[in-house]
Amino acid sequence: MTGALKKAVVPLVLDVLLILPAAAGRGPATAGPPGRLNLLLITIDTLRADRIGALSSGSSLTPHMDRLASRSVVFSRAFAHTPMTLPSHANILLGATPSFHGVHDNADFMVRGEFLTLAEHLRDHDHATGAFVGGFPLDSYFGLDQGFAVYDDAFRKREGGIGDGAADLGERPAAEVWRVAQSWLRAQKTPWFMWIHFYDPHDPYDPPEPYRTRFARNPYDGEIAYTDAVLGDVLDVLRELGAEETTAVVFTGDHGESLGEHGEDTHGFLAYNATMWIPLFIRAPGFAPRVVGQNVSHIDIFPTVCDILGIERPGSLQGASLLPLMRGKKIAERPVYFEALSPYYTMGWAPLSGFIDGQRKFIDSPVPELYDLRQDFGETRNVAGGTNVAAFRKTLEAIVRSQSSEGSVKAERVADPAALEKLRSLGYLGGLPGPRKTSFGPEDSVASLLPFQNRATKAMELYGQGKPAEAIGALREILGARKNVSAAYVNLSTIYRKEHRLDDAITVLRAGVEAMPENYEIHFQDIVCLYESGRIDEALSAFETKAFAQTEFDPVIWNYIGLARWKKGDAAGALASFEKSLAIDDGLALTYHNRGTVHFDVFRRTGRSGSYEKALADYQKAVGLDPAYSPAYFSLGVAYFQAGRYALAIGSLEKALSLDAGLDEAHFFLGSAQLKMGDKPSAYRHLTLFKATPSYEGLSPAAKKRVDDAILASGPGR
Ligand SMILES: [Zn+2]
Repeated sequence: MTGALKKAVVPLVLDVLLILPAAAGRGPATAGPPGRLNLLLITIDTLRADRIGALSSGSSLTPHMDRLASRSVVFSRAFAHTPMTLPSHANILLGATPSFHGVHDNADFMVRGEFLTLAEHLRDHDHATGAFVGGFPLDSYFGLDQGFAVYDDAFRKREGGIGDGAADLGERPAAEVWRVAQSWLRAQKTPWFMWIHFYDPHDPYDPPEPYRTRFARNPYDGEIAYTDAVLGDVLDVLRELGAEETTAVVFTGDHGESLGEHGEDTHGFLAYNATMWIPLFIRAPGFAPRVVGQNVSHIDIFPTVCDILGIERPGSLQGASLLPLMRGKKIAERPVYFEALSPYYTMGWAPLSGFIDGQRKFIDSPVPELYDLRQDFGETRNVAGGTNVAAFRKTLEAIVRSQSSEGSVKAERVADPAALEKLRSLGYLGGLPGPRKTSFGPEDSVASLLPFQNRATKAMELYGQGKPAEAIGALREILGARKNVSAAYVNLSTIYRKEHRLDDAITVLRAGVEAMPENYEIHFQDIVCLYESGRIDEALSAFETKAFAQTEFDPVIWNYIGLARWKKGDAAGALASFEKSLAIDDGLALTYHNRGTVHFDVFRRTGRSGSYEKALADYQKAVGLDPAYSPAYFSLGVAYFQAGRYALAIGSLEKALSLDAGLDEAHFFLGSAQLKMGDKPSAYRHLTLFKATPSYEGLSPAAKKRVDDAILASGPGR
């Protein structure tokens, strides 16, 4: 793919530019050197190809995507190689499959620096580069920022609790992504490369109004209609800037969404066309609109862009240039490799991979499948029986071998030495989780295990409907039948925790850690429950014996570790952990509050005024970030009280009590501050309120006496 081919493309592009009528007379842009074209890459997350009108005559959701398609070369049979966000974008931006770059799943993997990205390549060819992404799986932490001068990933990370996977860690709506992208775009002189990623169609499906109401029965479609409207703005601004004829536009999706097909609700478990068929439109000056039916895939984008822009193709690319297809010619059929390995890496389920060759699609797993896509694009009739499966497996192995590289193994589990070193400096001694199984039977297949995973999700719905006994029964039944269904451990322990049965939760989680050592969700819940039940040493030991990549970007676990270290009397370790949490996400009120409490404790023990000031600043930051956070107002009030700033203390404590009347001790400090300010009636009221709470009952005799004395001092008789 290197050498002689590199230079040959330039005359071809010029040739096309000169002969096509669409390109004639549109000003100087089209006549300029091809290397000066801008590139706009738009990727829509979780976009089913059949929701686009241009690809499915039944859909009217997407007038703007259809408008773009009508002026583009439309690839009606384009496929992703992976049904997950980070791997798919790595495939696009590196022009190679996971066999080469080693990024097989979100979260546990990162794109290593030695690989050349499209952004680096275009930057090296004098393009200004900017990326604007909408969802956490593409956070710069995971390495796709390489080559982008601006990489805008400003979404909030997880606030607390835990969902299933990294997807819920943070996102922002398309309009917000586009707002930031647009201001960057308007400041550019050509040439530029801008990548926009809209995350909205990803679950949960919750489109803004008016789409929420209009698509109340089908909110997934509502997300797509909303995203389409924002895309309309993008196209309008491109026209307004006069950049239509100087910009190549590549529009695609990273993967689809199953919406219940094949027993899969979302994506990532299976590799049917519901998630692997993706849109691909390329609009470039000089190329007439047409529809291409040959199989193409994400790795073809990078070489095609090189040819359109007239720059050389790097040797690492595994796809083919689609330029001949865009000019109405054919190219050689190539097998399209695909894989769905998230369940393998996170739960130890059997690996699932395969390839599409012409109209045949082979899916390898303990129960192999073969489909004839000409008659059965929806993959409902497995015709693998009676065929030579061994031959298909051999072909698959050969494809993987031909696409592999030395670097692929290293991408796994964040083997970034700097990150690991940082973990060690924070007292993180553990090894990587594992080991994984190497032989699998039908009982390990995704097809066999996914129904159990789905039942574990349904059990949570039962619990939400106020049926805890049924939910617990259903989850225990799942774990009786299968030991490797992470959602069953996580959901059962969540219910136990909510039902104040922490010991039962821990028993379940310990079994889960044993059975699924590679699963971060179980590991996280285990640490939280151990901490909450006061088993601090065990919580710290569970944390320190395993080096999960996810801890590097999970601010919440560092908050718990900070609390645990503080409970062990390790103020320095606690502060370092809270720093770590805030370095990952500086918007967490919870962490500020906890760090402030450690500073305040140091102040009380040492009298250091610096610690007092730090505590005050942290508490103020916490209430600023979350004005409904009653414990932080309480702590702030106590800190003011301690310093004799009684008027400020009264304000904070009244606010705390207005948010949460159950903060017993707030009554004591409030009453005491009021007494200091001479407001005896108020003081008497709050102090007697405090005396009636269980917190008073728990005090030492000496402390009780101090309360009683204060009540006497403020009493009506005095
Ligand atoms: Zn995605």
